[in-house]
Formats: sequence, structure tokens, C-alpha cells
Amino acid sequence: MIRVTVWNEFRHEQIHEAVRQVYPDGIHRAIADGLEREGGFRVRTATMPEPEHGLAEEVLEDTDVLVWWGHIAHREVDDAVVERVHRRVLDGGMGLVVLHSGHHSKIFRKLMGTTCDLKWREFGEKERIWVVDPSHPIAAGLPEYFELKPEEMYGEHFDIPAPDELVLVSWFEGGEVFRSGCTFRRGRGKIFYFRPGHETCPTYYHPLVRRVIANGVRWAAPSGAARPVRGNHPPLEPLG
Ligand code: ZN
Repeated sequence: MIRVTVWNEFRHEQIHEAVRQVYPDGIHRAIADGLEREGGFRVRTATMPEPEHGLAEEVLEDTDVLVWWGHIAHREVDDAVVERVHRRVLDGGMGLVVLHSGHHSKIFRKLMGTTCDLKWREFGEKERIWVVDPSHPIAAGLPEYFELKPEEMYGEHFDIPAPDELVLVSWFEGGEVFRSGCTFRRGRGKIFYFRPGHETCPTYYHPLVRRVIANGVRWAAPSGAARPVRGNHPPLEPLG
């Protein structure tokens, strides 16, 4: 069982009726339900209003993969929590799946080292998501492409470092394109960014979106390889 913690800032649902109607129990609950239905995961949720944002040291130590959704409250996330998540990802103890507007989160920007800024438009248009790396485990079980409508548009240029692997590319009805499924390795940790999931759209109930998130969580889980030894080191073989 992969131990997953789904984190949500949980702010839109408190203040925007249109979001509460789509996600009455919160975006985190819809994402967690999708993972639970998929099977093979032990899922818990954590939200920003909880002490330490629900991400105390012992929670992270009991997490193989952290899923992150945030949007309007990125700046309110405690730097000490960001540092703790960052350390655990680099150390290979935990993978990270960053969703949609999480592109501007402190943790994603810290891991990427760039602004992670992009172009956007809220019109409710169609998004067509193409699998551009069918051999990748995150593409398992996906058709050649699938469509979401309505969704928010995210367009290039997306200010990220060149991804280690590009799995999905989105095309939008208005004409823009976007690198919507990207993998990155940092230290011993793995990070998957997945674009869809605007708060007023029922995206996290879509079976193929749920499939991608589940695949992304499986991919990002720690490999279990031994911790590398660094620094001054005695020889393994006798030296003449
Ligand atoms: Zn959005």
C-alpha cells in the first residue's frame, strides 16, 4: 500500500458557493475518493486550517507521496512547513504530485527554481489532453487523448525548467497549448506536475483524471533504494 496524503488549502470551498457546489466536502475529498477507488493506496487528507497545515513531521514521515492543491492562499503557507516538505522530497522519503494552480505554490517554485508563471483564461472552454509519451507509466490505461469541458486554459510559456519527462500536452479550444503532465527529479525525490483541476470544474471526478493522478502517485512513490553514502570514504578494496 502506498501511503498518500492529499493536501488542500481548502479556502475556495469556504468562501465561494460555486466551488462548494462542485466540491461540497472539499477538493481534497474528491481527489482522495478517486485514489481510494483505484485501490492500492492508504489515503489521508490534510488542509491548511489544521495545526501545521496538517503536515506535522510525523504525518510526513508516514507519507510516501504528498498530493498538493492550492491557489489563493499560497503566501499563507508556513515557510517551516514548506522547508519540511522540501527536505523530505530531496531526501527521497516522499514523492510530490502538484496539481493545477499548485504551480505557484511555495513548494513547487522552491523545487523548480523558476517563477512557474504561465498564461491563463477562465472561459469554460474545452481542453484536449494528448499522451505524448505512451511508454511512460503515468500514461498507463489512457487513450491517445481525452477531453475535459469546461476547464480553465493554461498556456505556454510555462516558466519551468525543462521537464525530465513530458508525458501529457494540452490543447485548448482557444488555440493555446501547455505542457500539462511533467516529471522532475530533485535529489532522491520525484515530482509530477499535472495541470487540470480548476476549482469550479468537476475535473477531479473524471475517471481518466483520477487515473492520471493514481498513476502519478505510483510513479512518484519512493524507489526503496538504499540511501547513498557521501563524503570522505575508506576504500572498499585494499589499496597498494
Ligand atoms: Zn484554476
